[in-house]
Amino acid sequence: MTLSTIEIYKLLPKTNCKECRTQTCFAFAALMFKGEREISECPYVGKEVVDLFKGTAKKVNTVEEDREKFLESLRHRVTQTDLASRAKPTGGIYANNRLTIKIMGKDFSVDSTGKLFSDIHVNPWVAGPFLTYVLETKGVPATGTWVPLRELEGGKDWARLFGQMCEKPLKQVADTYPDLFADMIALFNGKPVDNHYQSDISLVLHPLPYLPMLICYWKPEEELSSELNLFFDQNAEENLNIDRIYTLSTGLVTMFEKIGLKHGVATPCPTD
Ligand code: SF4
Repeated sequence: MTLSTIEIYKLLPKTNCKECRTQTCFAFAALMFKGEREISECPYVGKEVVDLFKGTAKKVNTVEEDREKFLESLRHRVTQTDLASRAKPTGGIYANNRLTIKIMGKDFSVDSTGKLFSDIHVNPWVAGPFLTYVLETKGVPATGTWVPLRELEGGKDWARLFGQMCEKPLKQVADTYPDLFADMIALFNGKPVDNHYQSDISLVLHPLPYLPMLICYWKPEEELSSELNLFFDQNAEENLNIDRIYTLSTGLVTMFEKIGLKHGVATPCPTD
């Protein structure tokens, strides 16, 4: 059995008690993934979890190998799928043996062999969620009701990690990179909307056609530090599972961090 860091993390108690001599459960999961720790070093997991890892103390797959294996399984499923029939639920267009979907205003296509095409660089963070969306989305329209990730059905387990890995770093980018929101509008088809939750800036992005994301940013003032929260439509999980929502969100944030680092040299072509 090969589990990713995230999958291992989901099996841990997530209390960050440090008894395993690491700072967080996530760090412990990352070390386990590399084969540098064993599940028995966490005293708080049940026997069923320990049994899952029997005989897997030394992991051989690298992160890239694991990711590629996962992508390969998705590509294989695409070959078994009638892509034309997926145009409607994905909000895409099927033509010339390719299904094309807009990701934040940019064209991404897949053909019947599972091969991906795009005018911009296809990062692993987008390839997995994109293919999962192609295969699984129900095409449920947004309700217009925004909720934080923790209020999505599967979001509770992810909320803390999401705050650390998505909202916090994106807030830092917004704090230090004043053109961030303007670039989101210009480069990624962001739509300013009426201010939600009394935020100073409210912006909607569409990482996938039926997966809108609301970004709310409160500027720092006097004694108050800035704040940034991300919201999803309450139907989000009908269109993408929570694991992939997390992957896509962290990937977006990484991309914005890179754009922010370039500061002004805005590019729609994130690199690994
Ligand atoms: S001992 Fe277990 S619960 Fe505590 S931090 Fe380590 S992995 Fe998390």
